[in-house]
Amino acid sequence: MTRPPRYDVLFEPVRIGPKVARNRFWQVPHCNGGGYRDPSAVAEMRRTKAEGGWGVIFTEQTEIHHSSEITPFIEQHLWDDRDIPALARIAEAMKSHGALAGIQLAYSGINGPNFYTREVPLAVTGGPILTFTPDPVQARTLDLADIADIRRWFANAARRARTAGFDLICLYGAHGFGIFQHFLSRATNRRTDAYGGALANRARFLVETVEAVREATKGELAVTFRLSLHEEGPEGFSNAELRELIALHPTLPDAWDLAQGTWEACSGPSRFVEEGAQEALVAGIRELTPQPVVGVGRFTSPDAMVRQVKAGILDFIGAARPSIADPFLPRKIEEGRLDEIRECIGCNICITGDMTSSPSRCTQNTAFMEEWRKGWHPERPTPKGPSGRVLVVGAGPAGLEAALQAGRRGYEVMLAEAGTVLGGRVARERRLPGLSAWGRVADWRTGQIAPMPNVQVFPGSRLTADDILGLEVEHVAIATGARWRRDAVARFHLAPIPTDPGMPVFTPDDLMEGGGPTGGRVTVYDDDHFYMGSVLAELLVARGCTVDLVTPSALVAEWTRNTLEQGRITRRLIGLGVRLHRNLAPVAVGPDAVTLACTYSGATHELPAAAVVMVTSRLPEDRLWRDLRARDWRGAGIASLKLIGDAAAPGPIAWATYAGRAWAEGIDAPDRGDALPFRREIAALEPDLAF
Ligand code: ADP
Ligand code: SF4
Repeated sequence: MTRPPRYDVLFEPVRIGPKVARNRFWQVPHCNGGGYRDPSAVAEMRRTKAEGGWGVIFTEQTEIHHSSEITPFIEQHLWDDRDIPALARIAEAMKSHGALAGIQLAYSGINGPNFYTREVPLAVTGGPILTFTPDPVQARTLDLADIADIRRWFANAARRARTAGFDLICLYGAHGFGIFQHFLSRATNRRTDAYGGALANRARFLVETVEAVREATKGELAVTFRLSLHEEGPEGFSNAELRELIALHPTLPDAWDLAQGTWEACSGPSRFVEEGAQEALVAGIRELTPQPVVGVGRFTSPDAMVRQVKAGILDFIGAARPSIADPFLPRKIEEGRLDEIRECIGCNICITGDMTSSPSRCTQNTAFMEEWRKGWHPERPTPKGPSGRVLVVGAGPAGLEAALQAGRRGYEVMLAEAGTVLGGRVARERRLPGLSAWGRVADWRTGQIAPMPNVQVFPGSRLTADDILGLEVEHVAIATGARWRRDAVARFHLAPIPTDPGMPVFTPDDLMEGGGPTGGRVTVYDDDHFYMGSVLAELLVARGCTVDLVTPSALVAEWTRNTLEQGRITRRLIGLGVRLHRNLAPVAVGPDAVTLACTYSGATHELPAAAVVMVTSRLPEDRLWRDLRARDWRGAGIASLKLIGDAAAPGPIAWATYAGRAWAEGIDAPDRGDALPFRREIAALEPDLAF
């Protein structure tokens, strides 16, 4: 297949100082929850991007010195020469298919609490550490000797990066992170010396550091900036100031990589932010500088990419999440395989890995961060084993992924679905306010399965144990999903609460199926803490209801701090007039009111309600599996029977797609007994116990 000529522009080589990128696809730095702890896993993850055709590939942020680190977040270290081999392995993987390898160097300043090293944090202007948690730690203001030290530390890190084999060095000052932004922003730079005040002074450290880095790398490496496009607030480093800076120093870096002021703003989920949302902030910047401009925008559409390049807005299409969801995005465009692009759904599950210090998952790319640990590949199937026919029951995210991956491996796959529509929970959730992009989970998989001659799909087929025993299949996956509970049981209540039969009580399933209140005062009880409670509150407001959202947490949708949308969700609910009741849980449901109790004092009060929606927890739909287990399934020729996805243990959609992949990979896999089912790296012990 060849690509339509209108995409040719995306495959033009572009010069970046002393280097040339082979095309316009630039994988911007992104965290992955593995970092320095899992260097080989990170290297193989980056290798798939190289293989997938990215022209430029960056590491996540790399701490240049032990005096500034962001434990508990796991990024990369370049604290001394001993960190070079791990980064060299990553650089080698990045360059394996002709991509340029970039490293993002960071000094976290006011963002780094230094929990690991116990050093006193150093900041442009001292004060409490600014990070996701209100750590009771302050930073000391840099003096001139400290500033000279940090410049030298950047030069040292750059020298080590060159030794490790990198082509590009990115100086980090965006998302509110990175000392360059802290210098540039009047909000965090309140200095009155030569490094504070006028923009030229605030930019001084940047200018000096670029000189030091160029000298340390003998001018052989390209130096790029990742700078904030727009920081909110009256003293923030605004878009106008960024333009002033670029006009003042148009050729200072070899490329301008521009990202929004905060990480929350930059990595906006699809519920709140459209593709290409930064356009207005970037437009016109290219006219201020001869150097290439990189911008992000959750780009998955090649037409949107071409438009931004042709309109002179961007030289490089920057991408983090689209490169995670589909590491082969550039190659698929290059080869004209557009309908194979696995589009990011903008759910931000990948970010939760970083936020929880665990290897990141991707809802769409089930191989993400399993490339080395388990040998999974985003495109290449694991060779088929001796079995022939397999059955997958249920076509939700778990069943669809299971059928697709088993089909790709070459098995004869039967996929049976009770309903007439494929997609399971995403077929329903995609109709909720803001979640339409989630439908891509089903659309991409059904689109891939459709032309496969070895995968047969049977919609409208609710299977029973008898049906399955008669099908002559060798492996069976039961992916029958889960249903929301009605009885308030979740975390706060481990047993049902007294409920008057006169009060209508609904579940998210009822609402998604079109039922539930269409007016009046409704209490939504959210002990799930992810997106569903707030999404249903939005839905009910749209239906004309007056909504009270009750949560035992101090925060609305608390877990969405990990998807960087907790602030946006709360703002939206306030804007919609939803009344928020925090640190409270219902202890009884009466005929026309809910009794709420304070989670600390136990003090109760009545909240009038005409209906209640329980967003609490889900019960697995595992009856079919239990029925089968009670029968002689082995006698029917079935070698393995497995319950997967929400039917095994309800979780986010990414957990279900992962489960589908894991099942398909497991067909005919050698029995590893009690051995670990993945590879890991363990820190080497020091031979010498003395310091
Ligand atoms: P998961 O997230 O684990 O994929 P879902 O709830 O999204 O789970 O999907 C489960 C799917 O299984 C639903 O589409 C449901 O209609 C289907 N299903 C449930 N029971 C049966 C059955 N006995 N036979 C076929 N399909 C079933
Ligand atoms: Fe996109 Fe979600 Fe995958 Fe992240 S986890 S890359 S947001 S699909």
